[in-house]
Amino acid sequence: MTLVTRDKHSIWHPFTQVQTADDPIAIVRGEGIYLYDEHNKAYVDLISSWWVNLHGHSEPTIAQAIFDQAKTLEQVIFSGFTHAPAVELAEALKAILPAALTRVFYSDNGSTAIEVALKMAYQYAYNRGEPERKLFLTFEGGYHGDTFGSMAIGMSSNFFKPFEDFCFEVLSLPYPHTWWDDEDIAEKEAATFAAIETYLQQYDGKIAALMVEPLIQGAGGMRFCRPEFLKRVVQRVQAASILVIFDEVMTGFGRTGSMFALEQVGVVPDIICLSKCLTGGFLPLAVTIAKEFIFDAFRGETFDTAFMHGHSYTANPLGCAAACASLKLLHHNNALARIREIEKVHQQRVRQLCDKTHIVAPRVLGLIAAFNIDNAQSDYHAQIGQTLKAEFLKQGLLLRPLGNTVYLMPPYCITNAQLHEAYDKIEKIVIF
Ligand SMILES: *Cc1c(COP(=O)(O)O)cnc(C)c1O
Repeated sequence: MTLVTRDKHSIWHPFTQVQTADDPIAIVRGEGIYLYDEHNKAYVDLISSWWVNLHGHSEPTIAQAIFDQAKTLEQVIFSGFTHAPAVELAEALKAILPAALTRVFYSDNGSTAIEVALKMAYQYAYNRGEPERKLFLTFEGGYHGDTFGSMAIGMSSNFFKPFEDFCFEVLSLPYPHTWWDDEDIAEKEAATFAAIETYLQQYDGKIAALMVEPLIQGAGGMRFCRPEFLKRVVQRVQAASILVIFDEVMTGFGRTGSMFALEQVGVVPDIICLSKCLTGGFLPLAVTIAKEFIFDAFRGETFDTAFMHGHSYTANPLGCAAACASLKLLHHNNALARIREIEKVHQQRVRQLCDKTHIVAPRVLGLIAAFNIDNAQSDYHAQIGQTLKAEFLKQGLLLRPLGNTVYLMPPYCITNAQLHEAYDKIEKIVIF
């Protein structure tokens, strides 16, 4: 039996309708931007394997760091104990984040990082004697993961209909999605500000936090907003004593051209969530980093005010060692400078694509380029996306359109020539 046949007998895949899905592709190895299947066909990983890969596949120094750590200490309980990889990673993260973000809480993935942030914000208010602050503000179309808290906060992404009645309600703001030469953006932003004022008045003292994916909503369709807009939102909300949580699970570690999106926004959130590229794409690990005043609100003489959260593998040493190695590589490779060069190639090629009439809403930031195929439904399962995906794969391109949105998010080790070659193929497929 082939690997694929055996898979089909035993495995349940994520976000997959088994009835209609094509057979999975068995990947045997990865190197740099390429993944190789069992017939040695190469695929250019233009979506960084669901947005987690940073430096390219099977990067040797990270592999070595994991190996070395595994021989020394593979895992230890993190309540009442600590270890060097966890401390070193916390220090390395603080060194590249705004100084006000001081307390690093470890968990396993993006969704858990969000759960931790939600619970921190909620218990922060509770510990301070403000238990009526139960509400969360979010943007329509936001996505924050698949566990119950993150589903609730991302309900408007429309991925979770069956669970709607089971999730807490959130206050949803219109999201002013924008692109090159968008003429209506000022109007869209004004509508959001108006909605914020209405909510602040109506729910005075009842809102615990605002949760936002800064600059780009990922799973919602690579939807961009303007940094100045978000800066004003954050300032307004913080002035109303509402915590601001940045979900930088997708945007962190250079994706948007700066180390974190918050730098371009020019604000410091009260809590930040990081995960996807944290280990360079090797191991599941996440952090939720909070300001000191939040940490302080959990101090007390009894256990009641302590933060009630932890996972079996909290701060797994292998993950922490991989993350430390990944951060060193980012600096060593001067990755941000390289990402800005990739951004230029994106800009040039997307501009060319948009000369074709049915390609609209072009947008580029850092490693991310996106455009929409016109006249298609914007549904996640839109047929156009499925058709294109199959065609891309045939041509050796791993791309996974979100509805009618085609986007690229390659690891930064891609060369200009490799990126141009990918665009040449994409052009032939999307121009019909
Ligand atoms: C992927 C993602 C998450 C969830 O992360 P998982 O590791 O898949 O649980 C949360 N927020 C954003 C912005 C994401 O892109």
